[in-house]
Amino acid sequence: MYEQEVKRLQEMIDDSERIVFFGGAGVSTESNIPDFRSADGLYQQKHKYSPEQIVSHTFFVHRTESFYEFYKEKMMFLDAKPNAAHKKLAELEEAGKLTAVITQNIDGLHQAAGSKNVLELHGSIHRNYCQSCRKFYDAAYVKGSEGIPKCSCGGTIKPDVVLYEEGLDSDVINRSIKAISEADMLIIGGTSLVVYPAAGFIDYFRGKHLAVINKSTTAREVGAKLTIAAPIGEIMEKIEVKRG
Ligand SMILES: [Zn+2]
Repeated sequence: MYEQEVKRLQEMIDDSERIVFFGGAGVSTESNIPDFRSADGLYQQKHKYSPEQIVSHTFFVHRTESFYEFYKEKMMFLDAKPNAAHKKLAELEEAGKLTAVITQNIDGLHQAAGSKNVLELHGSIHRNYCQSCRKFYDAAYVKGSEGIPKCSCGGTIKPDVVLYEEGLDSDVINRSIKAISEADMLIIGGTSLVVYPAAGFIDYFRGKHLAVINKSTTAREVGAKLTIAAPIGEIMEKIEVKRG
């Protein structure tokens, strides 16, 4: 399957030295992490709120316990393991071919696979801070806490995850734009490209090879020279990493 597409992708990768990968939820689904926005209807019937409402700043502030009930169950998957896509991207970076991974995911699986320069647009479940004293807590502490995770000082812990109504970190945005503008190849994977900021970022790309790998074909045609409608892990695991 996808022999021609993989061959073309391999040629593009071999011809590139500053690859940037931009990934969305589809990269994590192959590690069995569901997109929280697809949280089942039963949950919504019970709680009367959509996932987007629950994962908002307002909800976190006013209904903290309900926020954490959803967050721990639908967004924290601490047993998840990196898949073939995560691993191949880490190999490409190690080989000096890839300069950055930009991700909309918060699961930390790129780092778990060995990637070093990971730009997390939406933050990470692995960073959590007391809102009163800024003390750091890991994901296991939050996941294992009863109800609202509390600091030893009594303060409420907040995950370093960008909630709806909150702005993205400007430093992460700037570094992402810089990486994309300096890249000679951009691989977009596991995202539909229709949501901000993915759509806007692509405009900064001036390199020669643009490839899109996404299970469902993308709504927005971005002038990609190569579009592969397939699960990204399945494609990436066939790529051979040659040193740059
Ligand atoms: Zn504290």
